[in-house]
Amino acid sequence: MIKNKNLFWLYFSPLMYVMCGIVVVGGSLNLYFNYKDNSDAISKIQLEKTKLASSQIEVFLNTIENSIIFASLTNNDYEDLEQKKTTLLKTLRITPAITDISFVDQYGIEQLSFSRTSLDNSNGHQDRSLEPFFKEAKLGQTWFSPLYFRKDTEPYLTICVRTPGLNNAYIVAQVNLKFIIKSITKMENESVGKPYIVDKNGVLVASPEISEVLMHKDLSHMRQVQAALNPDDENTFNILGKNEAGESIFTSFVKINPLGWTLLLDTPQKEVYASLYYSMIRGIIFILLSLIAAFLLAQYLSKKMSTPLRLVQKAAHNIAQNKYNEIYDFGSVKELKELSIDFDQMSQKINATQSQLETQVAVRTEELLKKTFELEVANKLKSNFLANMSHELRTPLNAIIGFSDLLLEKIFGELTNKQTEYLTDIRSSGKHLHSLINDLLDVSKIEAGQMSLDLRSFKLDTAINGCLTMIKDRAVLNQINIIFDPTDFPSVIFADEKRFKQIMLNLLSNAVKFTLPHGKIWIECNRDELGVNFSIKDTGIGIPDENLKRIFEEFIQGNDFYTNKNEGTGLGLAITKKLVELHGGVLSVISTVGFGSVFSFNLPQPPKI
Ligand code: ADP
Repeated sequence: MIKNKNLFWLYFSPLMYVMCGIVVVGGSLNLYFNYKDNSDAISKIQLEKTKLASSQIEVFLNTIENSIIFASLTNNDYEDLEQKKTTLLKTLRITPAITDISFVDQYGIEQLSFSRTSLDNSNGHQDRSLEPFFKEAKLGQTWFSPLYFRKDTEPYLTICVRTPGLNNAYIVAQVNLKFIIKSITKMENESVGKPYIVDKNGVLVASPEISEVLMHKDLSHMRQVQAALNPDDENTFNILGKNEAGESIFTSFVKINPLGWTLLLDTPQKEVYASLYYSMIRGIIFILLSLIAAFLLAQYLSKKMSTPLRLVQKAAHNIAQNKYNEIYDFGSVKELKELSIDFDQMSQKINATQSQLETQVAVRTEELLKKTFELEVANKLKSNFLANMSHELRTPLNAIIGFSDLLLEKIFGELTNKQTEYLTDIRSSGKHLHSLINDLLDVSKIEAGQMSLDLRSFKLDTAINGCLTMIKDRAVLNQINIIFDPTDFPSVIFADEKRFKQIMLNLLSNAVKFTLPHGKIWIECNRDELGVNFSIKDTGIGIPDENLKRIFEEFIQGNDFYTNKNEGTGLGLAITKKLVELHGGVLSVISTVGFGSVFSFNLPQPPKI
């Protein structure tokens, strides 16, 4: 049976590979571009935030600086301190970040001082000449002190501006930088990163973590801080670095101009990845949906294909079972419809051919049986006839031969020449007839399967010498040299001695018969693992190719003028071949006209002999 499952995998596997490939490649590209877009977008946003916060801080500081400069410009005459007092108070009022403002003369003696936090707005002529601003503030330049803290939490800055004019007095203001902290904290709340400010030496001056600022943490060793303190060309850009926790971060930074400080915003890289996780999840869902689609498609296809295939298989099975009368319908698709019609026609044709064949086989079988029967009857008749005939003929023939012998021996008186001649003919014809009858009897016995072999061991040279004795006279008469050297022959062979002699005599007498005077005949023998092989070679007239195959047939004689046709029966080789085959051997011949012939046969031997 065609398994639905196999077909399913047949369709599903390639589809699955293709879909997975598309989805994985597509998903990876999607993730890569998402990552790039996200990191670009986040960097941009962070940079914009940093710029915004830095400009707010700059505006804040500039406003303060400007209001102090403004205060420094109005009436620096010591005689009119009242007016200066008004200016300073006004500055204090309109600039909330300034908590204290003082007017210090060119000798460092404080002439006026107002504080938002303290009630003691003294004009105590305090000597401030030892304070740094007095030494460092230069004309035309705003002086900024390092950051310091009041009440251990509030960041403060001293800003000093020298008044123009002959006296060059000082306006000194203490500025509360709470605003900067607020801006940074606001920035932290609004963005994903961590904002902080470092001074020009890389020391932390503002951070949402006030404790870190109070420790005056030196961050100059950090890669992003180093880059921010020594920017290559611009004073704002993004850089990849690590925060104190060792996480990878993007850092955006912008310089805060009047102070030489830098605002930095560290954004952990995982924030960029966070949004990528959604893309990945989307990708995985997409893969799963694609696989489900491929699965369903494969199932649909396998179902669609397996039904007609199963029908085709069933049809083939029916035909194999000789069921030809089914009507096939594999489906409505054009090709399947055509296939159904083809199957119908095929099974009808096979059906017709088979019934035709069956009829023919039946007729032929009947004919064959009839013929076999007839043959058997004819064979039986032939065998009976031959047996009867030989019996009936041999008795009078023996009498004819015997009496003609007696007459020729002149027992009953002298014979005339004519009588001797006729009697010799009678005796020779009788003997020929006798041998013909004997041969016929042998043939019929062998064909009827009635000839059994008397297998036993016998001496080989004795048997061959017996045959040679019988043909010796004729060989001597024709001066034919027979070469037989039994030295290398096996001394004993296992066969039917009488039949072996018959085989040997037939072949030897043929060799003598068909060899011209002064010719030679060799009797050779060797042993191999299959048995004993004999060959009788002669330098006789040879056998033409067209006769070679036929000479083993019954009553076949060669047409040559060297021999007297009456001499043979045409049964000798047929009987010889059959006798060799009865022993389990094979008789064969090689011959060349004018050169001679080689008749070979083998007699299989039991292993012991
Ligand atoms: P026949 O009794 O006539 O010899 P065989 O069956 O013995 O009949 O031989 C058939 C024919 O095979 C012979 O008539 C002869 O033409 C040919 N033949 C057999 N032996 C030889 C041989 N040694 N040399 C040449 N021809 C042969």
